[in-house]
Amino acid sequence: MSNTQATTVRPRRAVLQMPEYHPPLAGRDGLRLDFNENTLAPSPKIAEVLQRISTAGLTKYPEREPVERIVAAHFGLNADQVLLTNGVDEAIHLLCEAFLEPEDEALIAVPTFFMYEVYVAATGARTQGVQADASLQFPLAGILAAIHERTRLIAIASPNNPTGAVIRREDILAIARAAPQAVLLVDEAYYHFHGETMLQDIAAVPNLIVARTFSKAYGLANLRIGMLAGNPEVLRYVRKVGSPYNVNGIALECLQVALADEEYVRWYSEQVRAGREQMEKGLAALGVPYWPSHANFVLMNIGAKHKELVAAMRKRNVLVRDRSSDPGCDGCVRITIGIHEHVEQGLAALKASLEEIGWQAK
Ligand code: PMP
Repeated sequence: MSNTQATTVRPRRAVLQMPEYHPPLAGRDGLRLDFNENTLAPSPKIAEVLQRISTAGLTKYPEREPVERIVAAHFGLNADQVLLTNGVDEAIHLLCEAFLEPEDEALIAVPTFFMYEVYVAATGARTQGVQADASLQFPLAGILAAIHERTRLIAIASPNNPTGAVIRREDILAIARAAPQAVLLVDEAYYHFHGETMLQDIAAVPNLIVARTFSKAYGLANLRIGMLAGNPEVLRYVRKVGSPYNVNGIALECLQVALADEEYVRWYSEQVRAGREQMEKGLAALGVPYWPSHANFVLMNIGAKHKELVAAMRKRNVLVRDRSSDPGCDGCVRITIGIHEHVEQGLAALKASLEEIGWQAK
């Protein structure tokens, strides 16, 4: 029985008005090709780390800085150019907290990762979305035209989620030059499946911040660990608004070992690249339209039967993600690419499901 009393407290206006994000997490049993996770496991060396962790260590507050030095060295950076965060989600949140006033604007290409909009809205600032055309390529001209003096954050995911599209280095540099008053966040969560990075440009471009996650290729989504790399002055402001203990000690221990096992990440990324080609070929053979992807997922256009397809896949124990409510993605479903065996399973379930729902190529 609930005895909850009605409350008279009210959140800030921005919180009342912001959109809520409820990822469809409940009952994710089966082959999970719905969240762009690693479909197998992290490096086998992580198991050894977990075995040596003692409960005595749990009494200690985590120390982020020594690990930041190791991570920075791994990427050929200085420690003050790196901030470890509780996933890229927290990194986005902290950037918004540090840089956006309620009268400011954040600029994003649409469709893209939903959390940019959520964290921008929490500050009271406005998100200006520039819609991609039917090719779902990055709308460069539209973004450049939308920049004005109140633009204080530009968030670009490359490769982008859910489209799999990428933006060229020259274009990123042009945006950085066109908006020196804005933090330009280049979210490289899916870097390993594409292989191009802006990390080498952070020293020369003072408003460029690169985000990396350890949730995807490294397979550590449950540990919640990501990073920002960029200008030390920009990162100092971000550090100010964050908790000094934002990343737990188990994640910090595992991260060092995960980074050192380069062989594993290379192998996993290779599995994804080969699997993506196999999936794209399979979709082409089935006559399903899709957008060529540079990430560990492929977005396909099923049309009116998108919901039926997701349900038919679930019956076969394969989870995929309905993205049809994303702007410009009506009828679209996204499927994660994992190791070879899982791509085969996904493709087989897809063939059977399309048949079951009576889907026909146009
Ligand atoms: N950026 C993009 C583009 C993503 O798609 C995701 C995860 N879906 C994230 C960031 C979040 O990553 P993390 O797990 O590090 O919070």
